[in-house]
Amino acid sequence: MSQQTLVIATRNSGKLFELRQLLRVLPFTLCDLNSFPLVESVEETGATFAENACVKARVYAQQTRSMALADDSGLEVNSLGGAPGVYSARYAGDGASDAQRTDKLLAKLSKAIPGDRAARFVSAVAIANSAGRILNVSLGVCDGRIAEVPRGSNGFGYDPIFIPDGYSQTFGELSDEVKNQISHRAYALKGALDFLRSLTTASGDD
Ligand code: IMP
Repeated sequence: MSQQTLVIATRNSGKLFELRQLLRVLPFTLCDLNSFPLVESVEETGATFAENACVKARVYAQQTRSMALADDSGLEVNSLGGAPGVYSARYAGDGASDAQRTDKLLAKLSKAIPGDRAARFVSAVAIANSAGRILNVSLGVCDGRIAEVPRGSNGFGYDPIFIPDGYSQTFGELSDEVKNQISHRAYALKGALDFLRSLTTASGDD
């Protein structure tokens, strides 16, 4: 029997790298949106990570006619009332760089409650079947704090300013192996992997 295809539905190269590493243990043929150049991007209009993950999984599954897995994620900073949250990718406006977003966050934080640098990364992972029906949603959280200055060049996004609990280095300084064990995405993927494994012992993706 040929392997089922799973489309990793993201255009973010940092996320794609991590998701590929975490999903490669599965008996699925993995591909991503680079294999579907005509697929149109999805507006992320949801109020929660889970809503956005579901919209992306549903719409990309329908467009590619394959089972699709989508992650929606972001950084919630305690003393900024949970910002940037679902707006993490657009925090410094469209077209801004990761460095501009982290600089903006550090500047805001310097004016917020002194001493409170608590933050968490959140990820929601949704899986839709080839007809666009949501089959599974799982959430993952990684608690930590915001560094005083960016450190390290591993990972992507806000990694150089996020220090996970139990460590003194930022995600930008920690190895991929460590991040893939403790990250919000790794925890959300645990639920998704359990579900996908159950599919390989059941019949079809419906
Ligand atoms: P979205 O899920 O496409 O809306 O984008 C999420 C945004 O949150 C990314 O563009 C990053 O800025 C940030 N983000 C999500 N996960 C991570 C992570 O693991 N490390 C660093 N930044 C992240």
